Amino acid sequence: MTKFSPLQPIVVISTHLDDAVLSCAQFIHAHSDVTVITVLAGAPDAFHEGYNSRTTGEPFAPNAIKKRRDEDAEAMSMLSAHYVWLEFHDNDYLQVLTRSDDKQEIRDALSQVLEERRPKSVLSPLGLFHPDHLAVSDACLELAKKSAYEWYLYLDMPYGLAMPKAVPERLATVEKTVNLATPELFSGDPDIKRNVMKLYATQFAPTKSNHRRGFRATMKAPEQFWKITGPASGSNRS
Ligand SMILES: [Zn+2]
Repeated sequence: MTKFSPLQPIVVISTHLDDAVLSCAQFIHAHSDVTVITVLAGAPDAFHEGYNSRTTGEPFAPNAIKKRRDEDAEAMSMLSAHYVWLEFHDNDYLQVLTRSDDKQEIRDALSQVLEERRPKSVLSPLGLFHPDHLAVSDACLELAKKSAYEWYLYLDMPYGLAMPKAVPERLATVEKTVNLATPELFSGDPDIKRNVMKLYATQFAPTKSNHRRGFRATMKAPEQFWKITGPASGSNRS
């Protein structure tokens, strides 16, 4: 079996501050030139009660996100990865801000960082279940179908393992935009993901309790990737 080995430098696009690790920690750990771009790593200048305040104990959004960014910086350091945080807001904060349609803005911001980083390969989420994951995945697919970079999708964990039926459904939607090769698996250090996830001290317990079995599988399972082989026919107009 050939090992999944995209050309470096590599950019991994992460929806939230922890998704690249949940889905790709073994892969990132095994590669020396990886930059993780987290899209929804911003905070409104406001107090807000919700997921971020509950998990971090910080009702002032900038403080909550600072805590989460500090965890991410430590995790990236353990994986020897570079990182970039974009200022878009996650779903928790959309209740205090009106997010009209920021897919175009996300696309533009990502496009700019990719131009600066000049990767040879880009990995972005398949886009499962969570509305934030879908939004980021859709923005990435629009870039991917016209991209000169080698582009791959990764299985969002724990969602893909906790809700396996969601995977073929999402693949069918994605394949209206791009063509995908047969999925490839990657296995690296079997302990690395749990060790890095523990650095996300505010997220480890809630993620574990939200996805009991899926979480256990996520810590050990091989990571899964699909290469985008080109735009799907009829999807090339925009
Ligand atoms: Zn997420």
